[in-house]
Amino acid sequence: MYEHILVPTDGSETAEYAVDQAIDIASKYGSTVHALYVIDVDATSYSLGTEQVDRIRQGHLDEMPEVRAEADEATGYVADIASEHGLTVEEHVTAGEPARAIRKFVEDNDIDLIVMGSHGRSGLSRVILGSVTEKVLRRTRLPVLVVDAHEKDA
Ligand code: ATP
Ligand code: MN
Repeated sequence: MYEHILVPTDGSETAEYAVDQAIDIASKYGSTVHALYVIDVDATSYSLGTEQVDRIRQGHLDEMPEVRAEADEATGYVADIASEHGLTVEEHVTAGEPARAIRKFVEDNDIDLIVMGSHGRSGLSRVILGSVTEKVLRRTRLPVLVVDAHEKDA
């Protein structure tokens, strides 16, 4: 039923809560887990210049070691847990607008389930859903498991 599970992660705590759910489902179905970190090229937190954005879009990630490290840490977290459970896991890093990049990834990789956090790094809990999750829900027909920030304590 679920051969390829996508876990989009921005490295936030809430995204990490989603990982546990994804791993549990993947263990039951023997699914391959795909961890995806999208370098949000519009995010002011990176304070990238236009030239840097272009280079990153072209795939020259190693020119931005901090960005690269952040991405690797986020996907590595997923990969470590998946490996501990004996699952096949792939780490992916792309650049772009997160929701759009997630949708493209889903189309290109035969994903059949998305497991993601209700919120991310901005984590404004008064908003019901983060904007990336909201856009993904609007734009995909796939099942999406949205894991709440408090799920881990439950
Ligand atoms: P907002 O970004 O709208 O201010 P937020 O940061 O709290 O609010 P989202 O960004 O929508 O909320 O994050 C919700 C979930 O979307 C995260 O838990 C993660 O699963 C996924 N996500 C968000 N940003 C990225 C990203 N850059 N790459 C991959 N997945 C992401
Ligand atoms: Mn966000």
